[in-house]
Amino acid sequence: MKKVLWQELRRPEFEKAVKADAVVIVPVGSTEQHGNHLPVNTDTNCCFIIAQRAALAIDEFPVLVLPPIWTAYSPHHMAYPGTITLNYHTFVELLTQVAASVHAHGFKKILFLNGHGGNSAVITAMRAKLADEEGVSVMGYTYWDMPSVAEEMKTVTQSDKGFIGHSGEIETPLQLYLQPELVDMDAAVWVPGVWGDPSTGVREKGERIINAAVNALVNTLRDYHSGKLEDSLIWRKEIL
Ligand SMILES: [Zn+2]
Repeated sequence: MKKVLWQELRRPEFEKAVKADAVVIVPVGSTEQHGNHLPVNTDTNCCFIIAQRAALAIDEFPVLVLPPIWTAYSPHHMAYPGTITLNYHTFVELLTQVAASVHAHGFKKILFLNGHGGNSAVITAMRAKLADEEGVSVMGYTYWDMPSVAEEMKTVTQSDKGFIGHSGEIETPLQLYLQPELVDMDAAVWVPGVWGDPSTGVREKGERIINAAVNALVNTLRDYHSGKLEDSLIWRKEIL
């Protein structure tokens, strides 16, 4: 099977990937409390698996997936045990240096795939920062905001009505699908720090949402690689 994980490649394989104009995905997760029933790796696990599956689904050009960023911006979850957070500036600096390192090796197309709501605004702002200060083109997406994923979430949910929430009707089935051995459905009830209804989680909902997210990411990667999806931040900088 072809290799898509950055950490498994050797030096000549990176050189080959650069020549083939590979797209590099940086999964950005979190380590934070997810109620009493889900593990703290929930967000990291989602974005890392979606990235890997999308990378494996594309044959026309290489897609590489970095090891996921496992700690991010989660100060609002520190009231509950298990959460590890960076402060705002450390998180911004971490993303800057990771993206700049990838870019320094010749990769021109980088995509942050985010799995944690608290990171979304930072990632959006990071794109402009990286373009302006480093001349690095980075696309940034939160997986549940990608085209057609939001529609699928609305379709499969009853109580949470398509809203991602936190450890509720969407994240619970995602983990029942991806890592059921780490879910305690006996504890799947609302407690402080949970947003939404975990009790309605069933595996099939999770499978449908993951499939929608993988498909959306595959389409986005193809558009990014072909130039159809243009990075206007870099374009503006070039004409200034
Ligand atoms: Zn989460």
